[in-house]
Amino acid sequence: MPHDGKLPIDSFQEECAVFGVYGSDEAAVHTALGLHALQHRGQEATGIISFDGEKYHGHRGFGHVGENFDAGSGHLDKLIGHAAIGHNRYSTTGEPELRNIQPFFSELAFGGFALAHNGNLTNAERLRQSLVQTGSLMQSTTDTEVIIHLVARSHQTDPALRLVDAMKQVEGAYSLVCLSPQGLIAMRDPYGVRPLVLGQIGDAYVVSSETCGLDIIGADFIRDVKPGEMIIINEDGMTSSQPLAPQPSRFCVFEYIYFARPDSVMENQHVYGARKHIGHELARESHVEADVIVPVPDSGIPAALGYAEETHIPFDFGIIRNHYVGRTFIQPTDAGRQTGVKMKHNANSLSVAGKRVVIVDDSIVRGTTSIKIVNMIRDAGATEVHMRIASPPTTHPCFYGVDTPDREKLIAASMDTSAIAKHIGVDSLAFISIDGLYRALNETGRDPNAPQYCDACFTGDYPIEPQRSDGKSTKGIMSK
Ligand code: AMP
Repeated sequence: MPHDGKLPIDSFQEECAVFGVYGSDEAAVHTALGLHALQHRGQEATGIISFDGEKYHGHRGFGHVGENFDAGSGHLDKLIGHAAIGHNRYSTTGEPELRNIQPFFSELAFGGFALAHNGNLTNAERLRQSLVQTGSLMQSTTDTEVIIHLVARSHQTDPALRLVDAMKQVEGAYSLVCLSPQGLIAMRDPYGVRPLVLGQIGDAYVVSSETCGLDIIGADFIRDVKPGEMIIINEDGMTSSQPLAPQPSRFCVFEYIYFARPDSVMENQHVYGARKHIGHELARESHVEADVIVPVPDSGIPAALGYAEETHIPFDFGIIRNHYVGRTFIQPTDAGRQTGVKMKHNANSLSVAGKRVVIVDDSIVRGTTSIKIVNMIRDAGATEVHMRIASPPTTHPCFYGVDTPDREKLIAASMDTSAIAKHIGVDSLAFISIDGLYRALNETGRDPNAPQYCDACFTGDYPIEPQRSDGKSTKGIMSK
């Protein structure tokens, strides 16, 4: 235990992927493919647990899905059964530890229970302390494990009712996929902050963080799992209930901006289309005379295309990305992150030399990426460099599962747009406004009757109050 007497718990947030299949002879293969399509949501570690009606089988390991579940490894052959769940883990700080890799598995009073979670539980630290004080032995340092202990302690009879009992005590953002003798159980938090979709392939049902996980196995999309909904899939088919009263939906707007794969459809909106609309709106808000629109690949491409469509300025690949490095944030230290940027992008002088360039990126978080990119474009001979950002300034950390650094490391928390422009060395800088973002996503704009999103990273408006271990709100602190 650390000297401050606090229980160890991951201070970092995880933007992960969950996937599950029930009713297929190829449940584990489908899960591996689904996780492969969802690789962008987490590259640190991956795992699958399958169930054959009697026994559970599992493999968890560091690295990508392909490294763990390739044909030569033999791992998939052992994951027999008609049901399987899987998880990709994303983390950026702290020591990666085997014990933190999901899905978690425990033998509880009713039998085996496997759990995979995407999101972040805002009252986990307090729950964890009280669980440990009353005898729970924690095996991992994640917030997710709290759910298992609450399920284990519930006096309800079947696993699904126990899970409801647990989730009534938990606050935060979550999309859960579980395996139990009762079948596959999926559940989404009452605000629907993190994504989860339901699909079908033949007689089998599938749940996935994103629709691209359904596409890869040829499953048909049925619908999004609803906020506060629980779905149970077993030999009797699929049943839906609403054990947690749904709140007005607050789906994470950053999924549309950056996190989700562009070919996914979330909450009835195509991510690629949403990104292009954001580009259109950004161009309307902050047009600048220029010769070429250059995206920061890959995350800035759809918004840059939208920007170019709206302004009729040619779009070109002025930055080339090396695809064999992970997302920049994967580097654990600031020094590593800077090397990561150099390893990942290079300017394409043919497209930018002698030109007035507008660089379009999805977001500026620390500002490290932008400085490197702007320098590269200038070194390649651009005469002017303007930057347009497809999100409002990121001023607040996320407590619901997207990795953002502490508030003091968020450049927009301490600098205004003109100071950031100076800092990153551009001739002009503009972020889309929060109203512009809503106009791009909702026909009706920022209207309380139209879908509202969780936009706390841009506004500080946290729909679920984060708590400290003493139960007090961390809203005033605004730092993880
Ligand atoms: P920086 O401003 O250097 O901290 O990095 C900003 C870049 O990181 C953006 O261009 C995004 O493409 C990417 N990014 C933004 N948020 C995240 C996140 N939560 N996890 C991983 N990458 C991110």
